[in-house]
Amino acid sequence: MYGSTKKTPAPEFSEWLLENKHLSVAWCSLPGTAKRAELHALAEEQDGLCVYCGRRLEYNSDEHGQPRNHIEHFRPRTDYPDQAFSHSNLFVSCGPASEGDGSSIGMATCGVHKADDFDEDLFVYPSREDCQGRFSFSVSGDILTGTEDYAARKMVDILNLNAKHLVKARESQFLLLTLEIQRQLNNGYSSETLIRMLLGRQDGQTADFAHMLEQLIAGPLRAVDEV
Ligand SMILES: [Zn+2]
Repeated sequence: MYGSTKKTPAPEFSEWLLENKHLSVAWCSLPGTAKRAELHALAEEQDGLCVYCGRRLEYNSDEHGQPRNHIEHFRPRTDYPDQAFSHSNLFVSCGPASEGDGSSIGMATCGVHKADDFDEDLFVYPSREDCQGRFSFSVSGDILTGTEDYAARKMVDILNLNAKHLVKARESQFLLLTLEIQRQLNNGYSSETLIRMLLGRQDGQTADFAHMLEQLIAGPLRAVDEV
């Protein structure tokens, strides 16, 4: 899981909540402007990546009008209505359109796959400091967890984070960037410059699967420097 560093809700979202706190409001009554503002505030806390898989969030819809992201209620609002508007319970996840047409069996991942599944005794909260560290990566793109970390294993299943297309995407990203880093090292770039290039994109945004790149490439590069 990529995780999130919680800050504060979007002002438009907080203001609307304040104005409507005396009403028993449903999530669907949240105005579009307040919802969009909150979505962007949440995305910023996650470096613009899906809180679960770490792919770059996209903001447009596909040709069928399916959104490519959605605001995710970690504790489902059906079972936890009191947390429906709680900023600490909200994150941004890939939407149905991130998985092709979203209906292929085995393709859905992240919040779409999780749906209303939630086990109060067995979960890894995305804003916990140790969230990222409880998941590691193999060079072939698989997500690994500690053998006795049942909550982390459960999250991988609930979110379908080892779906074939995600594993393939991570492996491709790793192989591509390993080759590129090797090429640039041969060109005399410093490790520090390369790590910056690795974790960021040319447009200044965080790279897809930055947590995997940090663990498999940036970490070892720093270790070599320290020797
Ligand atoms: Zn995702």
